[in-house]
Amino acid sequence: MNSRIAAHVRDIPRSGIRDFFEIVQSMKGVVSLGIGEPDFVTPWHIREAAVYSLEKGRTGYTSNLGDPRLRRSIAKYVEQHFSIAYNPHDEIIVTVGVSEGIDLALRALLNPGDEVLYHEPCYVSYNPSIALAGGRAVAVTTHAEDEFVLRAADLEKAVTPRTRVLMLSFPTNPTGAVMPPDELARIAAFAVNHDLVVLTDEIYSELTYDDLPHHSIAALPGMKERTLFLHGFSKAFAMTGWRIGFACGPSDIIEAMMKIHQYSIMCASTMAQEAAIEALERGQRSMERMREEYRLRRNFIVSSLNDAGIPCHLPKGAFYVFPEIRGTGLTSKEFSLALLKEKNVAVVPGTAFGPSGEGYVRCSYAAALDQIKIAIERIAEFVRG
Ligand code: PLP
Repeated sequence: MNSRIAAHVRDIPRSGIRDFFEIVQSMKGVVSLGIGEPDFVTPWHIREAAVYSLEKGRTGYTSNLGDPRLRRSIAKYVEQHFSIAYNPHDEIIVTVGVSEGIDLALRALLNPGDEVLYHEPCYVSYNPSIALAGGRAVAVTTHAEDEFVLRAADLEKAVTPRTRVLMLSFPTNPTGAVMPPDELARIAAFAVNHDLVVLTDEIYSELTYDDLPHHSIAALPGMKERTLFLHGFSKAFAMTGWRIGFACGPSDIIEAMMKIHQYSIMCASTMAQEAAIEALERGQRSMERMREEYRLRRNFIVSSLNDAGIPCHLPKGAFYVFPEIRGTGLTSKEFSLALLKEKNVAVVPGTAFGPSGEGYVRCSYAAALDQIKIAIERIAEFVRG
């Protein structure tokens, strides 16, 4: 049977998160800190923009690159919030979530066997997306004692003449890591020295806390021409189900991505594009309200875990904490399965985010505070034994 499936697809493992959540779904009354998805419904004014667009009968395709009004809104937003100026005419493409942006970028950039550097633990799709695009994924480990910051010196050890692309994602899923500006500058210099294209997934960029500014590598001198900036609406605007995102970058790369997109997708959903315009133009206040709620939850969850004797640093961004569970003597998977069976609480084993996630679990605080309180109480009981 397996011979019917292309080898490069057959060899890719299923997502560790999906496997785990199939078990969760088969159980009743589970308190979940597992899902990386806001518990908030998309703010009403954004939903209303889509309803209005349907009422107006806007049900056709848009341009392959995306509705020009949305591309202009994206250009304005990115210039205002990230200090990078992109031409909406040929430097921006609207995608089906950041997921499609990652896939298009890798397929557009990689020749078979080209190497891609990425930091790990990281979002589950990077490694398989690189492999599916014919590339070779080269992980560079980040460390808890360094709050999972990526060091240019570690990239230097992993680079080879075959390295073509450097993938970054800060704030990071699952660690909440944020890059200090001086280290980001060293990484930019590294990319220039080795003539790499940088693919930066900044989907959590609005979600940094305590007034910490977000810095994009694309805004650093000499970087715009070698950087593909990926962003989307799923996290900060609570729009996971709308499947909408965008990529900004040099026009030749955007054109190459557009060719793949036009033959496989045509265009992102028209009503989702209308909603995205509303999110960018009038969504700031609702985004800030959700961010403040995440900040309170993060502070609660980190102090409660530390009080329970589970070491956990205070992440600066995203909506995840990544506590260390080595003290229990269990592996990440054993811990997560036993916690689920004995206490009905779901967290994600750190190894779902790469082998370097061993010894950790990911808890999402994109869950209601009362659920977080119950979950943490049960985790503390579980650890006490
Ligand atoms: N990038 C990162 C780092 C993520 O954590 C996720 C979702 O969890 C995505 C991309 C996928 O985002 P989208 O819903 O825009 O496809």
